Amino acid sequence: MWVYEKELWKSGDIFVNEEKLLRRVAGYSFAVMLLVIGLSFALRYKEEYNVVNQERDATQMEERLYVEATPTMIPEVTVYPVESVVQDRHDAGEQVWEVWQMLSPESMSALLEKVSDRCVLIEKPSGSIAGWEIEENLPYYQITFKLYGAEENLHAASVLRMWNYSLFFGTPEEKEALKDFSVLAYETEEGITSEVTMTFDKCYIPEVTEQEEYYLIHLKKYSEVYDKIVVLDAGHGGKDPGAGAENYRVKESQIALKLLLYLKDLLEQNTDITVFCTRTEDVYPTLEERANLALGMEADLFISWHCNAAESTKRSGTEMIYNALQGQEDAFNSKSFAQLCLDKLTEALETKKRGLSDRQDLHIVRRATMPVVLIETAYLSNEKDLAILKDEEKLQAAAYAIYEAVLTAYERMEENN
Ligand SMILES: [Zn+2]
Repeated sequence: MWVYEKELWKSGDIFVNEEKLLRRVAGYSFAVMLLVIGLSFALRYKEEYNVVNQERDATQMEERLYVEATPTMIPEVTVYPVESVVQDRHDAGEQVWEVWQMLSPESMSALLEKVSDRCVLIEKPSGSIAGWEIEENLPYYQITFKLYGAEENLHAASVLRMWNYSLFFGTPEEKEALKDFSVLAYETEEGITSEVTMTFDKCYIPEVTEQEEYYLIHLKKYSEVYDKIVVLDAGHGGKDPGAGAENYRVKESQIALKLLLYLKDLLEQNTDITVFCTRTEDVYPTLEERANLALGMEADLFISWHCNAAESTKRSGTEMIYNALQGQEDAFNSKSFAQLCLDKLTEALETKKRGLSDRQDLHIVRRATMPVVLIETAYLSNEKDLAILKDEEKLQAAAYAIYEAVLTAYERMEENN
């Protein structure tokens, strides 16, 4: 039921002539020189900063050697509008090439062939390195790159970004997908571990390729990798059981999870739809995390399972909550999806059709930018409805009804396009 989730409204010319090109190259060269000077100051500052932080308790096995400066602490060295440079590279040849060589004299030629228009470049520290790993924290749009067993640590200036053919250093720019990052380095028995934690504007799938001088982290949107994405949510969970019946031996959180798992299996076994779930066990993700997942993945549909409860034991039936502000009126939207789900589910369960309800006060409904439905399956507080919710076969039938609604939804969305 929704009572628990009620919340207050929160404040809640590519072809340039030679002269032009030379001028531009001169401009870039000057900018690059400034950058190199700026970076050397930044690095010196960094070294001093690290020394201060090297004082430590030698008895600890794994301790923080350096608390790395956050990107805001290094002088702002920002955008290189290299779009034209990258474009011209193939036409104008060597003059522009020098700019790149100045940017990083090591192995930029090899690098440029490998770099995509959307990636992070982590400059390798000198000395030996044991290995690396990468971790995603999806609801927070975070990716952590961890380098371990190294002789030297990474620092904020090691993190470069290529975005829409522009190269960025230092503090993230507004136009970048990288919103924030920090570097943490500490000593272990195997050497120095550095963790670069990056926060983006949405979920990305990182693909790491190792070059001589850099680790390239290519970033792909989920919607570029997966053709169809549905995000499933089971309401409540963990510390929050939701509504209950029979002295909470029957919990809304458990029924919602069963429904989610049945639906997930149906979609995964019978379709090419990729399913992501806010939870698949008895835990409590915050409402923000649930909504973030669907938004960050740019899901096609967002479905949240719930059960209802009321003081009056007479009240019964199935209700769909939707976002009236989502989508265009004449296109397939949250309301059309909710109507589809209502028709299918009441037919399958033979419950009373209570209707649709626009609820802008519910976090996940309000924030959803894709067709969203919050399913109030039936009433735990009503005897007849409770019998349905306790019956595994009925729950499977309910999941099948929504599975069919999802298939119809995709057909309708394809017709619209
Ligand atoms: Zn609920």
